[in-house]
Amino acid sequence: MTSQLHLILNADVYSPAHLGVRHVLVAAAKVVSITEQVPALDAALNVAVFDAEGKRLLPGLIDGHAHITGGGGETGPASRVPPVPLSQFTAAGVTTVVGLLGTDDLTRNTETLVTQARGLNAQGLTAYCYCGGYHVPPVTLTGSVRGDIVFIDPVIGVGELAISDHRSSQPTLNELLRIASDAHVAGLMSGKAGIVHLHMGDGKRGLQLVRAALEESEIPPRVFNPTHVNRQRWLFDEACELVQHGCYIDVTAFPADAQGWSAAESIKLYLQRELPADKLTVSSDGGGCLPTFDANGELLAMDFGRTSALTEALQELLAEGLPLEQILPFFCSNAARLLKLECKGQIAEGLDADLVILDAQHAVSAVMAMGEWHVRDNKQLRYDLFEDSR
Ligand code: ZN
Repeated sequence: MTSQLHLILNADVYSPAHLGVRHVLVAAAKVVSITEQVPALDAALNVAVFDAEGKRLLPGLIDGHAHITGGGGETGPASRVPPVPLSQFTAAGVTTVVGLLGTDDLTRNTETLVTQARGLNAQGLTAYCYCGGYHVPPVTLTGSVRGDIVFIDPVIGVGELAISDHRSSQPTLNELLRIASDAHVAGLMSGKAGIVHLHMGDGKRGLQLVRAALEESEIPPRVFNPTHVNRQRWLFDEACELVQHGCYIDVTAFPADAQGWSAAESIKLYLQRELPADKLTVSSDGGGCLPTFDANGELLAMDFGRTSALTEALQELLAEGLPLEQILPFFCSNAARLLKLECKGQIAEGLDADLVILDAQHAVSAVMAMGEWHVRDNKQLRYDLFEDSR
């Protein structure tokens, strides 16, 4: 039987705050102590000891935007991206994920998304999802956004609802307000995030609809959560403006082109502009398709998003010398606060044992999710049932 007790020795802990070298005791999937002295534990407890040898220990990353069922399908049925396997998350140091539907909310539905999230949870990851997708009315399982958020455990909000995009339903202000109010009220009733995660397209209307929603309604700004805001430089400026009104914004770790900023560039700009440090998050768009369209909406090229892009953004910033404690909140604790995941995003006594160890080259060398090792000594230990582990 594998041990439920783990002692991680000599870890340089970033909670995200830098605590220094500590010994971390994990029991039954929770961090139970973080101490300067090695705790005295009875041999009969069968503690599994792992020496981190001074390497950096950080909270498991939170990927707030992943097409866990696979996205795509924008160049016909053969272009549907397959579901994202367990090891693609854990290998990247991601221990919490929010799955969603995008363009294809027709051949893919909330039922399969909820089931995929449950499958990932059963294998040790922590997975949530949104109801809805790009379109209006949002696809749901119970018949309403409110019903899905209130009655279905993994559903914590609605999205990615597309605006300013040729693939959107061209929602009106009233339609957006109705969806946002349903999400907000359901969030209050369930104690969940209750947000509208908004897919931003390249359209010149940008965040106009969100600004109008803030002006004309009583719905709190945190309910409106635009993503892909780094895809156009002017859109990123608009999003930074929205932060001043209390919105959380999400940048995507997709390959940057000349019109946009990479995730790492966005974070550096955000820090330079001295915007509220708790309002920006980064996500991968893993499993989603990454199409390039021309001005007529014709497809020019196709790729798909990978979870590892999130980690690569973090590594890029570290390689440039930015302090880990300064950039970590964008990858874990900020998303935990927005998504109301109280046990996630930080290393602290009583919180979930979701931990990542980075080696001196900033590579992910060990990953623990809910108190179980998925990666250790730079080796992947766990795969899902149908993954080829060779
Ligand atoms: Zn999107």
